[in-house]
Amino acid sequence: MSGIQVPYTDFAKAHDPLRGELDAAWRRVMDREWFIGGEEDRAFEREFAAFCGVKHCVGVGNGLDALRLILLAMGIGAGDEVLVPANTFIASALAVSYVGARPVLVDPDRETALITPEEAAKHITERTKAIMAVQLYGRVADMESFAALAEKHGLALIEDAAQAHGAERNGKRAGAFGAAAGFSFYPGKNLGALGDAGAVATDDAELARRVRALSNYGSETKYHHEMQGVNSRLDELQAAFLRVKLPHLAAWTAERRRIAAVYRENIRNEKIRLLSEDAGCVHHIFPVFTRERDRLRDELEAAGIHCLIHYPIPVHLQKAYAGLGYRKGDFPAAEELAETELSIPLYPGMTEEQIGYVADALNRF
Ligand SMILES: *Cc1c(COP(=O)(O)O)cnc(C)c1O
Repeated sequence: MSGIQVPYTDFAKAHDPLRGELDAAWRRVMDREWFIGGEEDRAFEREFAAFCGVKHCVGVGNGLDALRLILLAMGIGAGDEVLVPANTFIASALAVSYVGARPVLVDPDRETALITPEEAAKHITERTKAIMAVQLYGRVADMESFAALAEKHGLALIEDAAQAHGAERNGKRAGAFGAAAGFSFYPGKNLGALGDAGAVATDDAELARRVRALSNYGSETKYHHEMQGVNSRLDELQAAFLRVKLPHLAAWTAERRRIAAVYRENIRNEKIRLLSEDAGCVHHIFPVFTRERDRLRDELEAAGIHCLIHYPIPVHLQKAYAGLGYRKGDFPAAEELAETELSIPLYPGMTEEQIGYVADALNRF
């Protein structure tokens, strides 16, 4: 036994060097005694909008709410359908259900794990109102073709960019491709708060205004309610922490890309499949695929390498969605990915020794 341990992720590597700044951030908020919707929120919204290359950003409570508020603001609801990948975190589909619309699932491409416009087009009906492209694992879908498809059918194009802060495609960043994008700053995301947080990014001023009002009880003027909103706001403390971390995101992303490149270069095992390469990917997750996934996970665990599965059950086979009437076999690629995927450690601050150790363990399998 080598004694090397590789955790799935390690927050301390990112936070320890910033401890002084993070402490100063919470002191600043405490001293100001303004906890929601203040200077930190507005400043973070400006900074994150600039980072994404969009005109507007609205801080909200979490990533699920960001997506839900976009749909609400677009007036999507009962009787409407929204196309969503069958292989995504449940939140993408839940956002659609929460507004009363129906998530219509789309099987992904097994080489990218992303949905394609060709496959999505097969599911468009007269009830379809929007396409939600999920930038899964930190990789941007074919947004130019999705935009053309959306335009042709008069649909809204929405990004679930919860895993894709800073991901690029043809010179544009995640968040800037559709009518609006939902981001999550859950602690484990590439840009994580120290608690729950999320944001909506958009170029559409009116949509941003509606999202902001809806996130604050449907109100722009205190106690005047223009619409039936929810309470989902970004708090000052999280905004202040996010402002400390955002300037480091580019360096963290560069590090993630470097580690991914080392994995790509060194993992050589015919039993293990990787996704096709994508230079714009920000590697929120580094997935490997094998028919003997559970055995691989056990073997890596025994070697001190901690892995996760994203995601073990596709949306159509979740109990929560039994009501949609899908069955096993309906989305073969999503099912294959769920049965064969294993996410190996990849995080800023991993040592060369750890990276090499993981690659060697995969090659020995
Ligand atoms: C994390 C995540 C969400 C939800 O974000 P929360 O902040 O946890 O609500 C939505 N979609 C995807 C793809 C995610 O990974």
